[in-house]
Amino acid sequence: MQAVSQENIRAFREAIQQSTRIAVVGHTHPDGDALGSCTALSLWLAGRGKAVSCIFPDTPADNLLFILSPKVNYLYGDAHAAAARKALEACELLIQLDCNQFSRTEGLAPFLEASSACKILIDHHLNPDRESFDIVFSTPEISSASELLYWVLKAAEGDTLGPLGLGMTIGTALMAGMTTDTNNFANSVFPSTFRMASELIAAGVNRDALLQQLYSSYRENRVRLMGYMQYEGLKVLPEGAAYMILTQEIMTRFDLREGESEGLVNVPLSIGAVKLSVLLKEDDGHFRVSVRSKKGTSAQQLAARYFHGGGHENASGGKLFIGPDIANAQAAEAYVLNALKTFLG
Ligand code: 5GP
Ligand code: MN
Repeated sequence: MQAVSQENIRAFREAIQQSTRIAVVGHTHPDGDALGSCTALSLWLAGRGKAVSCIFPDTPADNLLFILSPKVNYLYGDAHAAAARKALEACELLIQLDCNQFSRTEGLAPFLEASSACKILIDHHLNPDRESFDIVFSTPEISSASELLYWVLKAAEGDTLGPLGLGMTIGTALMAGMTTDTNNFANSVFPSTFRMASELIAAGVNRDALLQQLYSSYRENRVRLMGYMQYEGLKVLPEGAAYMILTQEIMTRFDLREGESEGLVNVPLSIGAVKLSVLLKEDDGHFRVSVRSKKGTSAQQLAARYFHGGGHENASGGKLFIGPDIANAQAAEAYVLNALKTFLG
């Protein structure tokens, strides 16, 4: 694992040895990878006698709560603003996972910037902000932050204990993060990803139970929403792009909860002629944008050029602001149409 150099592992071990209060931080609207990697690292550090706060800018979606561990002290920027800020101010070591820059932690970003703690980044996105961190583990050539953390922790353990040395709960959290970020082994899978999965299953991680939780525990509303969007909402352009706009009105009609539209943006890529898929989801004063592409087309460039975002080459995200970008919510469709036609034209 090239991204895990011996020099970095030495520095990682030393930084942990020298710290008692540690903050583990993940990105806004935490997904399975952010929750899995941050949970696993928090458990591992707690096992070394550290006082750990696991901090996210906002409360995770209900359908991912099963990844959390009762042994971890979670703080959310929305529900526990003062406590989260205090933990960030008090920590001696700050470890940021699954996001390439402070700004992806939104309201927490000023406190991360101001912190004088030693800062470690463990991430797999393009364009990491290396200058803001003392130790950087970063490569886009890996499935997920959870997988990168797996190899970091194994190396930090001296590779002698084998995967069981990481503990079963840690292994399950890492498997959950890797599984969600690869869309169950469909994208961004490398030989190292199968090695990690193989080692974790051999060590006893229950993948069947995990898949049941992730992909066979939806509410009926979510399944009907997915059908409605594919039948009524999907627009396909001759240029080879598709888009869908999930408005507040539709979400209310289907009683859709946070996290329940996960996976929808991937569906149009199952059409042979579609190489780029965009999903707009209405939020307060803006749309959250998800972009997915097939190899040879850059989701990352579309997200960076038109939606103030970025991420991975074939899976990116961003925002479309009402006011700065478009006059009102009704203008979103014309903006997306123009962006897709210009980008692919
Ligand atoms: P999703 O579409 O699942 O929300 O996000 C897909 C990818 O895009 C993730 O890797 C995520 O980190 C990245 N991403 C999502 N939203 C944003 C954003 O607002 N800004 C940036 N820079 N990346 C984002
Ligand atoms: Mn990730």
